[in-house]
Amino acid sequence: MDNLIGLDKLELQSILAELGEKPFRAKQIWHLIYNQGKTDINDFTTLSKSLREKLSKHFTVKRPEIIKELTSTDKTRKWLLGFDDKRKVETVYIPEDDRGAVCISTQIGCAVGCTFCNTGSQKLERNLNTAEIVSQFMTARDSYGEWPSPIDETRYLSNIVVMGMGEPLHNLKNTIKALKILTDGDGIAISKRRITLSTSGITPHITTIAKEVGCKLALSLHAPNNEIRDHIMPINKKYPLEGVLDACKEYQKITGGRQYITFEYLMLKGINDKPEHAREIAKEIKKRKIGAKFNLIPFNPWSGCDYQTSPKSTIIKFSQILESEGFAAPIRVSKGQDIMAACGQLKSKNQ
Ligand code: SAH
Ligand code: SF4
Repeated sequence: MDNLIGLDKLELQSILAELGEKPFRAKQIWHLIYNQGKTDINDFTTLSKSLREKLSKHFTVKRPEIIKELTSTDKTRKWLLGFDDKRKVETVYIPEDDRGAVCISTQIGCAVGCTFCNTGSQKLERNLNTAEIVSQFMTARDSYGEWPSPIDETRYLSNIVVMGMGEPLHNLKNTIKALKILTDGDGIAISKRRITLSTSGITPHITTIAKEVGCKLALSLHAPNNEIRDHIMPINKKYPLEGVLDACKEYQKITGGRQYITFEYLMLKGINDKPEHAREIAKEIKKRKIGAKFNLIPFNPWSGCDYQTSPKSTIIKFSQILESEGFAAPIRVSKGQDIMAACGQLKSKNQ
């Protein structure tokens, strides 16, 4: 059985045409799936009984199986989700007062192989399809009972960060298709300003996201120069820093110039955390006149990885230098650590 979740409107229209139905039904079905959150085609009561029967013969609106759900003392919630082939991902909800972000994954494992990342230590198993990407968010909504979709301002699950497992730009087609459903007013209808895609810097695809989606961009920078970046992020040998930063500038131009690029910078003790590193990277960004802010991320340890996080005082100093260079540089407070839901701690194996 195929899933109705993840089909774009044109695909749905052609399926409806085959069933002898009018194209406008596609929009109606999207509303039932993405606004009303129906999980059973028999509950599509705004459609005729005969259409419901025809649809249920071939389709479902199935979510992934929830294998485990954990809620942290700080209210972060994590789901271990299982797909049809028994492979698993972790999806996280990170609350902030009266709203919050769902962190979704795009791949099982990751081929980029950053040396500090637990996901990267696992090799790529496969890409997630569009249904699997979109339904992570829908499962989170199910869990909080946030259906039908409330209007923007009152949503608890208000934001999406594409920062879970995998490199979204290595699964470009499905990621773009999923983001289009998530941002479409007839779909999940989350504003593109409330969605942030994080990438390790697959240079040729960065501007594609700007053109096709136009959401916010976070770039996993983590190093001030090629020498250090090559060492901790092997992808840098293929796509060196200069080209990545140029693409960020281009991204900003395409999306209208007002949206800041977020540079994520992992603080690794003795590796990338010296004052001269802060000055060096500030210079590269200023040279290109990129409107940017930093997000300094304390390294989250995991067993089998030898890095240590920089001491608090080092991180504060680093932040102060970036601020004196004109960049906001807050230090990320790690959430959900007690349930292993923090950055770099997600994995597909339920070990
Ligand atoms: N592949 C994309 C998105 C997923 S990773 C990317 O790399 O941007 C999301 C963020 O978690 C990235 O900035 C990544 O560098 C960071 N991260 C990975 N391992 C981490 C760890 N052990 N501690 C803290 N952050 C980590
Ligand atoms: Fe992949 Fe991102 Fe982890 Fe690097 S940090 S290995 S790109 S998931």
